[in-house]
Amino acid sequence: MRALVTGVAGQDGSLLAELLLQEGHEVVGTIRRDAPTPPGVETVYADLLDPDSLRHAVAGAAADRVFHLAAPTFVPESWAQPVETFTAIAAATAVILDAATAARPEARIFLASSGEVFGDACESPQRESSPMRPRTPYGVAKLAALQLGRVWRERGAHVSSGILYNHESERRPERFVTRKVTRGAAAIALGLQDELVLGDLDAVRDWSAARDLMRAALLMVAQDEPRDYVLASGRGRTVHELVATAFAAAGLDPEGRVRVDPAFVRPPETTPQVGDASLARERLGWEPATSFEELIAQMVRTDLDDLRRGSA
Ligand code: GDP
Repeated sequence: MRALVTGVAGQDGSLLAELLLQEGHEVVGTIRRDAPTPPGVETVYADLLDPDSLRHAVAGAAADRVFHLAAPTFVPESWAQPVETFTAIAAATAVILDAATAARPEARIFLASSGEVFGDACESPQRESSPMRPRTPYGVAKLAALQLGRVWRERGAHVSSGILYNHESERRPERFVTRKVTRGAAAIALGLQDELVLGDLDAVRDWSAARDLMRAALLMVAQDEPRDYVLASGRGRTVHELVATAFAAAGLDPEGRVRVDPAFVRPPETTPQVGDASLARERLGWEPATSFEELIAQMVRTDLDDLRRGSA
């Protein structure tokens, strides 16, 4: 089996590529610029803002499985770059669907969607049938891409979208709150930093291990019947709880070491972003393997090791 993974240098792409290689698949991955990718992956250049490059990559790969994971991922940035965000998410998804089904009509396609599609859903946790009322340009673009997947599916293509809630690993960049906190806790534990500066400590997110959600993506494309699934832990936690977990893993007391800077505070959210993955559990037999505590502790351990090496 030959799989194409867009965004193979990213957190999700690299984790998924590793799983695919372990299962014995050939993996072709798109990259936007030179970047490290898992050993064994064949790479091809493609830019989400350049449809010809995407078509070329998809047609050249002639893959049986297409995992479209490449996308801008930092939600607040979508207010600064709404047009690029919409093009890179929605228009690029149309190109992928069109090119992948033209190259191989029976190809099975996975699209990475987001819990941001629900926005002001007015119900929490959200499931597949919850109202979708995104509140950011990013969420609107992800909803357009999700709907493109549905209309291609209605026309007979094997397209499934994973509605992914926050998912983390030691590969998460530091602008995301989990990595910022685990890195900060590690730096404070090693005496390299005095305090951690954050935004809203009461903000709620539903965090999972990225590897667990990528395993669910594999289960989704293995189903005869394509459909969309919410993939989440089902448990909302505050940034405050995240801080407590990371500091405990680093052997620290957060008291007096965390400061709030309004620059990092986002507008309040009316509906807590928490996902109900019951459908995935029932129909795919999916179970997350890593608890929140284990995930954060692993990230803290990686950060302690990195920083010790860096300062040595
Ligand atoms: P997102 O959910 O995809 O935007 O992922 P993030 O990892 O950026 O998490 C964002 C959540 O953490 C939001 O609810 C933020 O309000 C909250 N948060 C609190 N402090 C910070 C911070 O310093 N940086 C970031 N990125 N988010 C923060």
